[in-house]
Amino acid sequence: MEDIFKFYDDLGPTKIIHIYEPKLDLKAVLVVDNVAAGPSIGGIRMAPDVSTEECFRLARAMTLKNAAAGLAHGGGKAVLYGDPKIPREKKEIVIRGLANALRDIKEYILAPDMGTDEECMAWIKDEIGRVVGLPREIGGIPLDEIGATGWGIRHATEVALGGCDFELAGARLVVQGFGAVGKHAARFLVEQGAILVGASDSQGAIYHPQGLNIEHLMELKLAGKSVADYQDGQKVDKNAVIDMECDIWIPAARPDVIHKGNVGRLKTRLVVEGANIPITHDAEKILHQRGILCIPDFIANAGGVICAAMEYKGATETIALEAIEEKLRYNTRLVLNKVKEKRILPRIAAVDLAVQRVKRAASFRRWTVF
Ligand code: NAD
Repeated sequence: MEDIFKFYDDLGPTKIIHIYEPKLDLKAVLVVDNVAAGPSIGGIRMAPDVSTEECFRLARAMTLKNAAAGLAHGGGKAVLYGDPKIPREKKEIVIRGLANALRDIKEYILAPDMGTDEECMAWIKDEIGRVVGLPREIGGIPLDEIGATGWGIRHATEVALGGCDFELAGARLVVQGFGAVGKHAARFLVEQGAILVGASDSQGAIYHPQGLNIEHLMELKLAGKSVADYQDGQKVDKNAVIDMECDIWIPAARPDVIHKGNVGRLKTRLVVEGANIPITHDAEKILHQRGILCIPDFIANAGGVICAAMEYKGATETIALEAIEEKLRYNTRLVLNKVKEKRILPRIAAVDLAVQRVKRAASFRRWTVF
């Protein structure tokens, strides 16, 4: 038997629920990690092979991210076991079943993650109401369409530049992963005067020292093409994006792309993590030793979850973007001040900030569970 108690600590998890309904072929697990600050928000991941322990780690990451973002929400995560590509009718049945199984677990607000989307959230809304990440037609704020996370990255970057010796205007920018996060981050930073010199996606990469036309790149992606189909500039292998000399480097593709073995290739002055855990902790330490500032993922990419929390409150898109701007600027500044004051890694400062907030929230509660 999996020794699940081995990962319990003074933050959580407060509840682990296994769900099984043979009539629906429904198997799932929910981990509610910590609810000191309020009901947890975290996505439902549909995948065949995520252990309870991994689900817990993802839930803990949400506790820290939501606390670091300054939201009145704890962290949770659900895994729905199965192939996310099953026929739509079958998917609807298991999603509706899962929603009903979680109907009374009020300390968990359901949300989308890998393998689930806004249509799944609409089915959940229809069943139990307690969900974020909805289609626009029923009160959702389509965060990937409006670029909520990229908008936050822009503001984190602007504040981070206070700790660097160059300005955004004229700064050379490289973005790895020209998807929902990367393309909008690039768009917002270019609007502020940055020059996008390199971009990549899963098909390849493109480089132009004088700058790429962001609108043209976005049109290519909209047409289902790759950034490598861009007509002007130098086409290179997707991994060559690590070697492109620049001032700001934004990883917005996959986890662990920068590690001890390749971190030495980065020739940049500021890294802002758009993806989740794109850089291993060892590599982050090396960046710090080289004097390259690195804004950690759960500080820089919190725009999406802030948008989701604002949607839950019934806020408009404009108010949600204002909240992202305010929170990202404030939290990035707090992390940078701590880094300067205590001479610690930005990640350590960020985790410390999040844990202190969770503990303070818990200090007001009789118990941290509902
Ligand atoms: P996406 O699928 O829209 O975009 C990912 C992009 O990365 C695609 O363009 C893909 O072609 C590219 N890519 C994949 N493998 C690559 C590789 N090896 N080299 C270069 N490019 C590669 O996904 P997204 O929503 O933009 O998310 C990107 C990352 O950010 C993920 O780690 C995600 O968990 C994280 N994240 C997303 C959000 C959000 O709001 N969408 C919020 C926080 C964190």
